[in-house]
This record gives sequence, structure tokens and C-alpha cells, in this order.
Amino acid sequence: MKTVVETKTYNNFINNEWIASVSGEVITSINPANKEAIGYVQKSTEEELNQAVEAAHQAKKAWRKLGQAARGQLLFQTANILESRIDEIAETMTKEMGKTLPEAKGETARGIAILRYYAGEGMRKDGDVIPSTDKDALMFTKRTPLGVVGIITPWNFPVAIPIWKIAPALVYGNTVVFKPASEAAVTAAKVVECFAEAGFPEGVLNFVTGSGSVIGQGLIDHPKLNAITFTGSESVGQSVAKAAAARGIKFQLEMGGKNPVIVTKNANLDQAVNEVINGGFRSSGQKCTATSRVIVESEVYHEFKQKLVEASEKITVGNGLEEDVWMGPCASESQFNTFKNYIEIGKNEGARLIHGGEVLTGGEYDNGFFVQPAIFEEVSPDMTIAQEEIFGPVIALIRAANLEEAIELANNTKYGLSASIFTTDISSILEFIDEIEAGLVRINAESAGVELQAPFGGMKASSTGSREQGEAAKEFYTAIKTVFIKG
Ligand code: NAD
Repeated sequence: MKTVVETKTYNNFINNEWIASVSGEVITSINPANKEAIGYVQKSTEEELNQAVEAAHQAKKAWRKLGQAARGQLLFQTANILESRIDEIAETMTKEMGKTLPEAKGETARGIAILRYYAGEGMRKDGDVIPSTDKDALMFTKRTPLGVVGIITPWNFPVAIPIWKIAPALVYGNTVVFKPASEAAVTAAKVVECFAEAGFPEGVLNFVTGSGSVIGQGLIDHPKLNAITFTGSESVGQSVAKAAAARGIKFQLEMGGKNPVIVTKNANLDQAVNEVINGGFRSSGQKCTATSRVIVESEVYHEFKQKLVEASEKITVGNGLEEDVWMGPCASESQFNTFKNYIEIGKNEGARLIHGGEVLTGGEYDNGFFVQPAIFEEVSPDMTIAQEEIFGPVIALIRAANLEEAIELANNTKYGLSASIFTTDISSILEFIDEIEAGLVRINAESAGVELQAPFGGMKASSTGSREQGEAAKEFYTAIKTVFIKG
């Protein structure tokens, strides 16, 4: 069901009030399918950022003292409110960053499930009793919040990523200043509306929109910030790490990927093709866990390639609101230009474009950022398209003589987020699990998609700090006090 989504201006949310920026300026959010404005958010100044951090700072003691169970109850409320708005928020997401409506709805449903997971955390233990060698003593650990947590998010999962950071931050007793990516800030504002309606105390969750260099950087540098969690590009992540380390605050970074899929000679090729298409081209390849390199054993290379191209030819590209569309547009003009640029780089460096890669034109295509997903072959491991994160629907096919070489090629990038293997051979599976340099190791499954109760994160340049999601999130959002009581 399609709802009518109003085009309006969204304010910052500070100390439980929706406030416009003193700048008097707004950032326009553009629908990549037709270049129309879908809404406006505040181009905030340091003044609003300071107000937000101060509000979070003032709120932290009372929020901590409220207790974990009561905090969890407010997340249950938020989940119910988000659920009642799932159609509208999913449609906003599709209009704002282009992913198809079923994908947007799936992501919103996941946001609801994450809220319920962390609401349940409110009723779970926050420490362990540890035996003491002193029979008259009681020794235990107690988790304690960090204080004010800064949350900086990208545009590609504008509901799920903010929620998988905000929900654990809040239930474990932190207060939050949340700065979303400008490209998807209208969707983020609607998520914050759900929290606002649930009735959190003043200052517990604050929302400030604006540029990365002013609001993002200002947040990290703010003297009253106690921790920062960031998801976005590696280049910005590195600067976040430097700033946070210089200030001595806890930080968590989730960054890029160049995720490989290995297809062995005894794989179920139809399954592998299906999952490579899903992993590489869903959401127009704009997932940190998207499949970008497919390394295929020589014996099955030609058959796999043929099946992959045939399946790719069936992909329908268009406005993600339309029912028969499988892949929406690139999320923004900048993503569109990045795609075109990497296609040229691939060709210039000698890779062979065997499918797609062109900008789609004619009819509705002329109004948006639509492209045909691309497959390159004869990609050598040192080529730019085999090394750099493209963050678009581009797959590089690479041939390997055997499993050992395939794993070596898979590990040959600075990233280590997700990796898959398709095989029916158990010893290949065990070898892959041992040798692959990736935080998310997937067997006969696409490289994207990890269940919300499992730890999420990568190795090497993909991630720094403790894992997100599930119980693992507790490691980042809390500190441990070891308590010793002598009778
Ligand atoms: P980006 O790095 O451009 O922006 C991310 C956020 O950082 C935005 O909110 C932006 O405004 C802010 N920012 C920009 N400059 C800043 C600065 N100097 N200081 C502080 N904040 C600043 O990334 P993007 O284009 O929004 O997202 C795409 C990237 O995100 C890709 O590299 C993708 O791999 C990565 N990503 C990673 C994961 C993961 O979990 N590993 C998940 C989704 C996306």
C-alpha cells in the first residue's frame, strides 16, 4: 500500500523540542528517481550542536538512575509506534535514497525487531558474580553507561543503522546526540519522531542535522562527548578515529568493504548465481557488505559467467515504488557519478565489461540516476576495481586455479568485512572459515545480511572497536565496574 508522504521541513530535536536552526538554512533531500525535493532538514550550526550535547550531558544522571528495565519499556513503546508507521516510513526511505519498497519495508521491520531485542535487554543481567578467594567477600561486575554517546550514520540504511546504535546506547543507560547523513535525514527524522512520541525524558535523545564537517566533526571534538560510534566511509572513519583517540574517548567504527565471494568447482552454480546477484545488485550495490568481487574456480568459470550474465539481463531497473522493479536508482547524483567513474576506470585499466555498465536513458530514466548493473571480467587483482570500494552495482569476476589461490585473492585487499563461499565440499568450507580475513563469514549465502542478534563487524580496514548488534553491542556501550565487598 502506498501512502501520501508530505514534503515538509524537519527541525532538530533537542531537549524534547523540535527546534529550527538559527542558520535559517535548510538542506534539501532529493528523490533520486525523479530529482524532486522530498523534504528539508536543518543546516545546523555549532550553536544547536552545543545545545544538544549540553542537553544530553544534563540528562545522563537521571537516565542512568532510571534503571535498565524502565529504559527497555520505552524502547518497546518506540517499536510499536514505528510499526504503526511502517508503510509511510518505508515509502519515505524509497523516495529519499532509492531502494525498492520491499527492501525499505524489510529494513523498517528490522528496525522494529532491533528495538524489541534491546527492549528485552532491559530485563537481562547487567553483570556477573565472580567467586572470591576470600570466603567473607562478595565480588561481582556491574555494567555502567559511558555517558553522552555521539552517533554518526550513513545514508544507505537510514532506519536500521541509527536504530542499531540508538537502541543499545539508550537501554544500557547512555544519552545520545544523533547526526544522520544529510542524504537520508528526512527518513532519520521520522525515526526520531517515533522515539519522541514514546516519551523519553528530556535530553535523552537529541537529533541534529547538518554537514559532516561542521556537525559531525564538532560532535567528535565536543569536550562533553564520552564516546562516538560511526558508520560510513573509511576516509571519514580514519579522521573520526584520530580525533577520538586524541581526546581519549571510546570509539567504534564501521567502514567500507570489498567483499569477495568464492565459487568452487563443486558449488551449486544456480544457488551461487542467485546469491551473487542479490549480494551484488540489491540496493544498487550500496551496502557495506555488497558482493564486489566474485572469484571462480577455472573449471566452472565459463558456466558460472554465462549463468550470471543471463540472470543479470533479467534485472528490472526503475523507480523503487513500482511493483515490478527489482533495482532502484543510485541513491544520489554523487553515487551516480561514482558509478560512471569506476566503469571508465575499469575499462581504461583493461578489464572487460561483459554486462551493463551504462546509464539508462529514455522515459522516466531521463529524470533520475538510473544505471544498468555491471559485470567486468579479466579483472586482475591489482586493478582499481578489484581494490577500491565502489559502493555501486559493479561486480568484478576473477578466475582462480584452485581454492588456495581463491582465498589468497579474496584476502588481497585492505578490507575484511564480509566474505562468502559457495561449495558443497566440507573441507573447502573448513579451510575457508580458517583462512578468510573477514568478520562476517558466509557459507552458501550471499555476502550481505546478518541476523540482528549476531555480532556485526569486520577485520582490517573495515572496522575498529567492538562489534555492533546483539549482545556484542554491550561491550561498546558500557564500561565494567568490578565490585568487591568485604563482609
Ligand atoms: P560518509 O563517510 O560520507 O558519511 C557518513 C557520515 O559521516 C555522514 O553522517 C556524514 O555527514 C558524516 N561525516 C562526513 N564528514 C565528517 C567528518 N569530517 N566528521 C564527522 N562526520 C563526518 O559515508 P556515506 O557516503 O554516508 O556512506 C557510505 C559508506 O558507509 C561506505 O563506505 C560504506 O561501506 C559505509 N558503510 C559501512 C557499514 C558497516 O557497517 N561497515 C554500513 C553501511 C555503510
